[in-house]
Amino acid sequence: MYSHTQNENGTYNTRCLHCFMTVASAVETQEELGQLETRHICPEKALADLLAQKISPNRPPTAPDERATWQSAVTGPSDRA
Ligand SMILES: [Zn+2]
Repeated sequence: MYSHTQNENGTYNTRCLHCFMTVASAVETQEELGQLETRHICPEKALADLLAQKISPNRPPTAPDERATWQSAVTGPSDRA
């Protein structure tokens, strides 16, 4: 989901509504806007997808970063253990 604004010179800016990052500015065509938006890898959306997909105790993820997230979700913060 993106918010488009138009500049005085007719170019466009696009901003991601998930992370509020400016994906591109001074883009000349709507086609190019679409291409740039496709290339945006959204940290907020990735995190939301990650949380939505799993955190299932029965299927621990294999990536170290994901494993840390999974463990803290299952056992709580380590300083409380
Ligand atoms: Zn984003």
